[in-house]
Amino acid sequence: MLQAVDVGRLSLSAYRGIAPEETLDQLRTLGRDLTGARVLHVNATPYGGGVSELLRSEVPLLNDLGLVADWKVITGDDAFFKVTKLIHNALQGAPTHLTAARRAAYELSARRNAEAMQEDYDFVFIHDPQPAAILRLRGKGSARWIWRCHIDTSSPNPEVWAFLRDFLSGYDAAVFTMPEFVPPGLPVDRVAVIPPAIDPLSPKNMNLSQAAARRVLNWIGIDPYATLITQVSRFDPWKDPLGVIAAYRLVREEVPNLQLALVGSMALDDPEGWSVYQKIDEARESDPQIHVFTNLTGVGNIEVNAFQRMSQVVVQKSIREGFGLVVSEALWKGTPVVAGLAGGIPLQMADGVGGALVTDVQGCAEAILALLADKPAASVVAARGRERVRQHFLLPRLLVDELGLVRELSKGRPVPQADREHRDPVCGMALGQPAVRVTVRHAGRDYLFCSDYCRQRFLAFPARYLAGGRSAAAMPLSV
Ligand code: UDP
Repeated sequence: MLQAVDVGRLSLSAYRGIAPEETLDQLRTLGRDLTGARVLHVNATPYGGGVSELLRSEVPLLNDLGLVADWKVITGDDAFFKVTKLIHNALQGAPTHLTAARRAAYELSARRNAEAMQEDYDFVFIHDPQPAAILRLRGKGSARWIWRCHIDTSSPNPEVWAFLRDFLSGYDAAVFTMPEFVPPGLPVDRVAVIPPAIDPLSPKNMNLSQAAARRVLNWIGIDPYATLITQVSRFDPWKDPLGVIAAYRLVREEVPNLQLALVGSMALDDPEGWSVYQKIDEARESDPQIHVFTNLTGVGNIEVNAFQRMSQVVVQKSIREGFGLVVSEALWKGTPVVAGLAGGIPLQMADGVGGALVTDVQGCAEAILALLADKPAASVVAARGRERVRQHFLLPRLLVDELGLVRELSKGRPVPQADREHRDPVCGMALGQPAVRVTVRHAGRDYLFCSDYCRQRFLAFPARYLAGGRSAAAMPLSV
């Protein structure tokens, strides 16, 4: 059997007053329609990184809704996880050659995991490339299979993509965070666009008093009264920790008491973490005001919560990004964010809504300085970011989108009109009843957008978002 991950219990009613009520109503309806459906989520690691973060909250909530949901993780040896990290990087565009030995290492572990998956389910969600081959090697049975891709696969390395693509035919649906991430020649007919979300009730995101957060940080060696900027992310080159250190040095010229915390988790499926850690250690040049923490030295959810809450600015200087849950996590705590213009980050925030988007070290330093220099303005910007997260990036919305897809697959009928009516044609997000309506009239129809960012992209190239129509996100929907 695949290794099951024990998750706690969650109740949908606990989200009342936090997530939009309309979303909770939709979720109750979907739960009623799907009562008893057996759902399995499979990924590569029970901790570290965004996918495990999502599943830890999503799976108990599915059970509360009346479905029968499990979360299981695959296993693999060092060779397997080295190859899957190479595949991960190559799918985000890095040059790589998949030697015969690497392919064999991938297939060997995949075969073992396929043999270990003996149970029957109605719906199987396979997350990311690591477990993707299980379907081909095991067979579908009577389940519907969904490949949930969390990374930016818009320009994959062709050799690696050709290798992985072979394992994807047979899936009933594929889910991406943004329409742009759908790779060329995907052999799956049903494509859905569903951005991830955070759980506002998890220990990482729940309310924590200032006094408690201050004590937590003080205990691990941060001066709670000096200026603090933080980046929380796996130690991964795409998250650009060295760029963050360079930006910190520029800001420190103006803010001498500045501290930088780099908080990074070591995930089971990410063998690159330690080499990046060493590069960070060299780059910090024993600067006592740069602090580097990992989950292995006791920095867990509560500490991350405290860092994201107490930092004057949270940085996420990603160069490539899937979604970047850390951005929504920080915004939810009312902290302004300076983040790389990459992947799903601009879905979550825009200049003036949550913080600032940047493309280089200089811009990053300038944006941090601007937020530090004008605290009242920074609070206004941060409050807008928090409201945006409340509207679009809390867990119940994610479940509405995913269960809408499950219901569609179960009955072979389209997603009900109610779910489709308010979708942003650019990012594909279900919009519910947005507080601010950003609309465009185009070719005699009105379109609704989640933000000015998506509206601008639509205006620049409407045909891109209206043509083809393979996904719900690409359909022109009147509002
Ligand atoms: N995370 C954590 N501790 C760390 C670093 C990261 O708990 O030291 C969490 C972070 O809070 C977030 C997730 O790992 O929930 C990272 O998700 P994201 O989507 O930002 O990036 P990914 O790792 O999936 O690329």
